[in-house]
Amino acid sequence: MPGPGMTETAKFERIALIGLGLIGSSLARAIKARLPGSRVVVSDHAEAVRRRAGEIGLGDEIAEDAGQAVVDADLVILCVPVGATASLGAAIAPALKPGAVLSDVGSVKGAVVAALAPLVPDGVHLVPAHPVAGTEYSGPDSGFATLFENRWCILTPPEAADPVAVAKMGAFWQALGANVELMSPAHHDLVLAITSHVPHLIAYNIVGTAADLEEVTASEVIKFSAGGFRDFTRIAASDPTMWRDVFLNNRDAVLEMLGRFNEDLSALQRMIRWGDGDGLFELFTRTRAIRRNIIASGQETSAPDFGRGTSAPPASGANAKAAVRENKN
Ligand code: NAP
Repeated sequence: MPGPGMTETAKFERIALIGLGLIGSSLARAIKARLPGSRVVVSDHAEAVRRRAGEIGLGDEIAEDAGQAVVDADLVILCVPVGATASLGAAIAPALKPGAVLSDVGSVKGAVVAALAPLVPDGVHLVPAHPVAGTEYSGPDSGFATLFENRWCILTPPEAADPVAVAKMGAFWQALGANVELMSPAHHDLVLAITSHVPHLIAYNIVGTAADLEEVTASEVIKFSAGGFRDFTRIAASDPTMWRDVFLNNRDAVLEMLGRFNEDLSALQRMIRWGDGDGLFELFTRTRAIRRNIIASGQETSAPDFGRGTSAPPASGANAKAAVRENKN
């Protein structure tokens, strides 16, 4: 990947961002802050979101539809849920400029490459990306310019990708403050299945289980949530559309990791049943070391609030996207 001195190559004159949620609106803000020479065209399929983008000054231009937004763009980034990629790709493909780079930010890469690769016209370079950065909030108000700073962005270019286009995308993300790594789409999906997708599934499941309990009341769950449950509720508040699409599109890798997870959970169950304190102690010691390594690598803070200060709720609250719709429609 190009070094930090290569932000020159990060200069795309005209950048189109489609989908103005957490990631799209963060990109618009980050580009304005760090690459002010680029002209940014933004678009979203919801009229209320486009109107809100105008009110809060996202991008230099707001396009009514995605096809219009990508005309003459040197870089097009799809910032929509993974399940919307194929239809959006088909809608914009005829309008892409020869020589342009087409990218995305989806949390699953194999399905995105499979959907987009056949649609990309000759002369357009497909370089999918996944910024491993986010919060549980969504909608145009939830984004912030520093979201990608010191976070990883994984590029998953197809094997025959143009190296210049790949280097330009790497330099682009570095200019926004991210660290860049290259992976194959399949490897990305396996890594993210265990680091992100299965943890989200566990959070959705434990919060769902607590909600369904009959012996413990809902008010007790909320009242005593500090005992670990609270951190799961934060993850389980993540956008339902985005996460439905992640599980539907990364099925094989998630099922593989869930199989291993279930085996390990059974082993833990056995340790508890047979009073194997040494086994439990040994595992908990190993897992504590992993957290220390994550903190040491700068990907988490050791602050006892688990870094919640870095994902402060947007002005319109946790359900920012719904709030935009309700206020505007
Ligand atoms: P988000 O806040 O829900 O925003 C997505 C926006 O795209 C919404 O306004 C959505 O509108 C709009 N949209 C959906 N389909 C569209 C279409 N065909 N044309 C134009 N606009 C469309 O989602 P996000 O959190 O920014 O996530 C966007 C992508 O980034 C996802 O692929 C996700 O996997 C990835 N990602 C997310 C995170 C995270 O932590 N959130 C982190 C890394 C990567 P509607 O709501 O009306 O559909």
